[in-house]
This record gives sequence, C-alpha cells and structure tokens, in this order.
Amino acid sequence: MKIEIIIVLAILVLGCSQTINSNDKKVASNAIESPRASESKPKVSFTFDDGITRDIAMYPFEEWNRMILTALKEAGVTATFFVTGSNKLDTKGRYLLKSWSNEGHAIANHTYTHPNFNSETMTVEDFEEELLKTDTVISEYDNYVKLFRFPYLKEGKTEEKIAGYRNVLSKHEYKNGHVTIDASDWYINGELIKFIKKEGIDNPKIDQYKAYYLQHILERASFYDSLSYQLTNRHINHTLLLHHNLTSALFLDDLIAYFQNEGWEVISTDEAFQDAFFAETPNTVPAGESLVWSVAKETGAYEHLLRYPAEDSRYEKPRMEKLGL
Ligand SMILES: [Zn+2]
Repeated sequence: MKIEIIIVLAILVLGCSQTINSNDKKVASNAIESPRASESKPKVSFTFDDGITRDIAMYPFEEWNRMILTALKEAGVTATFFVTGSNKLDTKGRYLLKSWSNEGHAIANHTYTHPNFNSETMTVEDFEEELLKTDTVISEYDNYVKLFRFPYLKEGKTEEKIAGYRNVLSKHEYKNGHVTIDASDWYINGELIKFIKKEGIDNPKIDQYKAYYLQHILERASFYDSLSYQLTNRHINHTLLLHHNLTSALFLDDLIAYFQNEGWEVISTDEAFQDAFFAETPNTVPAGESLVWSVAKETGAYEHLLRYPAEDSRYEKPRMEKLGL
C-alpha cells in the first residue's frame, strides 16, 4: 500500500515537474522578446518562385505540381506564385498558371527571363521590358496581382538603378512582393534530385533530406522572426520564399505541420501582404535580400547578425556534407 502511494506520488510529482518545465521553457523563450509576445503567434505565409513545367526525376510535371496545390488546399491557405513569363506561353505553361489561379492562388510577376538586376549590364529599360512582358502573360488569369519579385532578391547595386527600378514599379502600379523569410530550399532541392536520380524514390535516406529541409526552413524562419521582432516589437506577417520544385512537392505538408507544431500560425499571402511592414523601403545599397534583413541593415545596429549574402548554398553545403547528404 505504502509503496503504491509512493509510486503514485512520484508519478504526480514527475508529471507536474515536466509540465512546469515545459511551461518554463515557453515563458523563458517569450521573455527574451517581450511579455506581449505570449499574446500573439508568429505568422507565416507561403510564396513560390519561378514555375517550371518539366518532369523531375520520376515525377511527371502535372503530378508534382498537384502535390504542392494539395498541401496548400489541405492547410486551407492560398499562396502567391511569382512566375517568370518566358516559359508560360506554351500548353504546359498555361496549364500551370491555370491550375494555381483556379485554386485561388495569386499569380504575380517574377520577370520574363530571370536576370540579376545587380548586374552592371542591366539597365532600367531592361527592367521595364522584363516587367511588362510578363505582365502581358499573367494578366489574363483571374488571380493576377500587381506584385513583383526581384530574381535572387537583387534590387540594384547603385542608387541610380535602385531608384530607377522603383520608379518603374510605381509607374505601372506594381508593389514589391517582398520576402521576409529567405532560405535555401533550392539548394536542398538540387541535392535531393541528384540523390533520387541515383537511388530512386523509395530509399529511406530521403527522410534525412526531409529532416534537414524542415529544420533549415524553421531555423531561418525563427531567425527572421526574432530579427523583425527586435525591429518592430511585434510578430509581423511573414512571407516565406520557397520555389516551385520537388522539395515543395514532397515536403510542404510536413513543413506546414512543423510550423504549426512549433507555434506558428499559417496564413494566406493576401493577409500577410497587408502588414504595414511591407511598406518599408530601406535605403540600403546594394538593395535587396529579405525585407527584414534590409530594414535591419539600414539601422546599422545589427551588423553582428547580418551576413551577406543573407542566404546561400555556401552555408548549407558543408552542413549537409557533414550529415552525408
Ligand atoms: Zn527566381
């Protein structure tokens, strides 16, 4: 009898201490920011760049594209699809834009040929041509929006070009479709495709690529949310940059669940872009990167946290190699 009571008590005490510990942890991580943080959750929305129309490894184009749309539908959110125009005029390109527009996702502009606008050979006239050619391609779709995303998030290297590009956008009533959370999904995607082409789609090691992808995206999301919290004293609505690729097709459903388990609210991009933070126009030269990064850069107070480029394969490659990926 006595022993039983002791066991029951021990279970109760253990159970309580675990509850207290996990609560402590929550309070502690919020306390770093501000007591107000406990009242609101960080929010993330999904944006997808480029838009490709080819089969990937053994996945037919229509199938892997559908996997992304299904994950979004099951989460009950809509995204913004920033597309290049040059490969959207043929049957597959038109099918792609229709498949996204029909499900309520916004179709936005990501240039015609995906140039780097930090390049010295790029002119403001080139910029306008790139913008307008794709505007013609996408404007026939129901969910066309006048948002523009710079390829590689490079928005100009000189004050003159930066101002020139911005003038062109406002002249055509476009807004910058800023990224707040940047990451290197494209690099993990490339490594995963190489692996699948060699080992097939049933190799259990694919789970290790997934685990790396999930922790990488969450790590970058936490970094940009913590930085924007320091800048604004609140959780802004985030726009995460992903690509229209195989990692999105295979892992987006798990990524959404992972965000939710980590205490994030998953929202649609039309809600996210309404955040006042997107009206920021930082005067950094060169311009670009994540909007959070460049607003922080402009203050001059976060140099110890800001690497350049903000995100790149150079940071992920050694970490993946160490894991044998
Ligand atoms: Zn792109």
